[in-house]
Amino acid sequence: SKPIVAVVGRPNVGKSTLFNCLCGQQISIVKDTPGVTRDRIYAEVTWLDKSFTLIDTGGIEPDSKDIILSQMREQAQIAIDTADVIVFMTDVKQGLVDSDAKVADMLRRSHKPVVLCVNKVDNFDKLMPDVYEFYNLGIGDPMPISAISKLGLGDLLDEVIKHF
Ligand code: GDP
Ligand code: MG
Repeated sequence: SKPIVAVVGRPNVGKSTLFNCLCGQQISIVKDTPGVTRDRIYAEVTWLDKSFTLIDTGGIEPDSKDIILSQMREQAQIAIDTADVIVFMTDVKQGLVDSDAKVADMLRRSHKPVVLCVNKVDNFDKLMPDVYEFYNLGIGDPMPISAISKLGLGDLLDEVIKHF
């Protein structure tokens, strides 16, 4: 069967926006117990000569830092358990936050291939300097993208399929 790629990251970094722009067709929605954060949406993506299944992990609207962190840990654990490659998404506008660092540690310890993606880089010339701080996560080169403007997506996908 096809490799599985999961997108994880803080709420509102743009995971679903990326998912929607990459997916040709949505193949299924898996809902677990209402109120918990386990809804998963799967799509088929083809890039160059490679196809894979992309998973978007949804979530409730968190209202505290504790809930955000526990939700991110849960997403990351799902990704570690099920994915071949994990795309860890951060947000250049929010900058590097504590929960990013905690989840990055968890992903690093898993020894799964991780592609670090920095979203909302809507203007590469202006915002690239802000991307460099994400090197501090210690999980590799940050790949700048703008999911809304569809910038950097080819380079991101190239990086993802290298791991298959
Ligand atoms: P998720 O919670 O991680 O799934 O985030 P969403 O995909 O729902 O996006 C959260 C918000 O960020 C929405 O208002 C999006 O329109 C916005 N957003 C997503 N991608 C970008 C981007 O590349 N640039 C900017 N400026 N906003 C974005
Ligand atoms: Mg979402």
